[in-house]
Amino acid sequence: MIVNLAEGDLKTKFGLFKEALYYDGQKETIALYKGDLKGAENVLCRVHSSCIFGHYFNSVECDCQKEMDISQEMIAQAGKGIIILMEQEGKGNGHFALLNSVQYKRQGIEQAQAYEAAGFKQDNRDFSAAAKILKDMEVASIKMLTNNSKKIETLSSLGIKVNGTKEIAL
Ligand SMILES: [Zn+2]
Repeated sequence: MIVNLAEGDLKTKFGLFKEALYYDGQKETIALYKGDLKGAENVLCRVHSSCIFGHYFNSVECDCQKEMDISQEMIAQAGKGIIILMEQEGKGNGHFALLNSVQYKRQGIEQAQAYEAAGFKQDNRDFSAAAKILKDMEVASIKMLTNNSKKIETLSSLGIKVNGTKEIAL
């Protein structure tokens, strides 16, 4: 179950987008989108995790802000697409885990293993709200904006038709 609570417009550096606020009974999830998505095929779709370091503190140690900028730009160029912002910092482990993982990452350990080293799950994310939003909007199929092809399986397993990925050129 997911409910669309509100919709509104947002003017961005990349032009006008629409925002839809959803609630699944536990938490709110926001979708930023452009164009008529109902029944549309190969809709550019970015499932983006929140990141305090990248989005508030201008960190140069992650690509989160850059990925958001490029996603918005690609969607603006295509005239159609959707970005679903998930409150899943630190791969769903939270900011505490992210902060604790930094020391391991600096030793050259990959981010996922760094979470494990810090005592958390490698990946604790739940993408079901993203799938519910795409279904509510009646998007026929998506092309994921990601450099991580594993994300295809994640949304496919939740019943979304994913026709591949489109790379975000950082
Ligand atoms: Zn980040």
